[in-house]
Amino acid sequence: MTDPTAGRQVERIVIENAAIATVDALDTEYTRGHVVIADNVIESVGEGPAPQWLDNVVRRINAEGHLVTPGLVNTHHHFYQWITRGLAQDNILFDWLVALYPTWSRIDAELVHAATQGSAAALLKSGCTTASDHHYVFPHDGGDILGASIEGVAELGMRFTALRGSMSRGKSDGGLPPDHAVEKTEDILIASEAAVDKWHDASFGSMLHVAIAPCSPFSVTTELMKEAADLARRKGVRLHTHGSETAEEEQFCKELFGMGPTDYFESVGWLGQDVWMAHCVHMNDSDIHKFAETGTGVAHCPSSNARLAAGIARVPDMLAAGVPVGLGVDGTASNESGELGTELRNALLINRLHGRPDALTARQTLRLGTMGGARVLGRQAEIGSVEVGKLADLALWKVDGIMHSSIADPVAALVMGALPPLSLLLVNGRPVVENGTLTQVNEDRIAKACADAAKELASRG
Ligand SMILES: [Zn+2]
Repeated sequence: MTDPTAGRQVERIVIENAAIATVDALDTEYTRGHVVIADNVIESVGEGPAPQWLDNVVRRINAEGHLVTPGLVNTHHHFYQWITRGLAQDNILFDWLVALYPTWSRIDAELVHAATQGSAAALLKSGCTTASDHHYVFPHDGGDILGASIEGVAELGMRFTALRGSMSRGKSDGGLPPDHAVEKTEDILIASEAAVDKWHDASFGSMLHVAIAPCSPFSVTTELMKEAADLARRKGVRLHTHGSETAEEEQFCKELFGMGPTDYFESVGWLGQDVWMAHCVHMNDSDIHKFAETGTGVAHCPSSNARLAAGIARVPDMLAAGVPVGLGVDGTASNESGELGTELRNALLINRLHGRPDALTARQTLRLGTMGGARVLGRQAEIGSVEVGKLADLALWKVDGIMHSSIADPVAALVMGALPPLSLLLVNGRPVVENGTLTQVNEDRIAKACADAAKELASRG
C-alpha cells in the first residue's frame, strides 16, 4: 500500500512574542516565547523567538499581548439541553429534572443536531478544544441521536468524547424519570456496544472517543450499572455517570441501597482509573479516599452546582488526596452560559467559599481546566499541556485590551478577570475560532437553527 502523505512536507504554524502557560508538570511559563506547530503536533515551545531554520511555515503569528494556554477540556455536559435553557429557573435538582423530563423525552436526532452545535459553539468560543457530551435520553422514535451529535460536533471541528448514556429505572421501579423516558437494559447494552464499535477511535490524535455512561443512581438499575461496567472493560472504553450531586441523591441511595453513592458505586464495580463522575459534591473523607486510592476522576461543575443549589464540592481536599479533577459546564439547562472559559473563574471563587483564601490558586484552576480534564478523559498523553509531541490544541487569549491590560500576571488576567477575547483557537493544528468567531460554520445559521429547534420542542409539549 502506498502512503498518500509520502513526500509531503509538514506544514508549520509559528506563534511568537506570546506569554505562554504550558501547564506541564513543572508549571513552566514563558514571558515572551514561541510555539511551533507541525501539522497537528507541537514541535517546539520555549522562551524567545522560534528557531530560524524552520521551513514550510504557512502562517506566522505575532502574538504580542496574548497568553497561550492549552485548549480547555470539558469533562461533563449534556449538549441537547441547549434548546431547553432558562426553564425551571428556581428548582433543586430532583424538582428540576421532574419538570424537564417530559420535554426531553420528545427530542429527536434533528433537534439534537441543532442543540449540539449550539453547545459546541459556546464551548469553542470560550476556549474549549475537547469536550465530552453525556447523552442519556433516547426516545423510541428519536432516530440516530448519537450519530446526529457526533456529526454536529465534527462540523465545528472540536475534539470529542461521545458518551452513550442511558436511563433504565423508571418511576414504577422506584426511579425518578417517567417510565416512557427509559429504555430496556438489553437494548441499552446492545446500542452502547454498537456505538463503541462504530465510532470509538483509540489512536493517538483521535478526534472521537466513545464512553459508556448510565445516567445516575436514581435513573438506572443496579443490573445496568454492573453490566455497563463489564461491557466498558471488555471493549476498553471509559465509564461515566453522575454521582453525589445532591443531599437528596444521598438520601435516595441510603433508602434504596442501604449505603451512600460512593459505597454503592464501589459495590457495582464503578471505582477505578477508567471511571469519572460528575459533581461529587456530597463526599465524606472516606469517599474522597476511595476516589484517590482507585484513581476515579471527578468532573467539577461549579456553576451548575450553584444554579441548582446543590452545594460546593470539596475540590481542594480532592486535589490534596490525589483525586484526578477536571472542569465541566454541565448541561446548559442548569448552566445557561454554556461557556467553559468562565468556569475557571467560577471554580476559583466558589472553592474559596470553603473559607480558605488559597483553596484554589489561579494556576491550580487553569490546571483543572486543562491537564486535569485531560487526565479525567484518559487523554493526558495527548492533550492538556503545551509540550513537544502533544497535539496542537491551543488557545490564544488577548490580554492587552481594556479589560486586562492593567493586570501584570496574564494567568490571573485569564482566570480571575473577565474572560479575555479569544483571538485564535487551534484544534489538532486547525483554526476553529478566529477573532472570537467560528471558522468552520456560519454562526447565524446555528443561532437560527437552535431558536427554531427550541420552539419546535416547546410546541411538542
Ligand atoms: Zn449532568
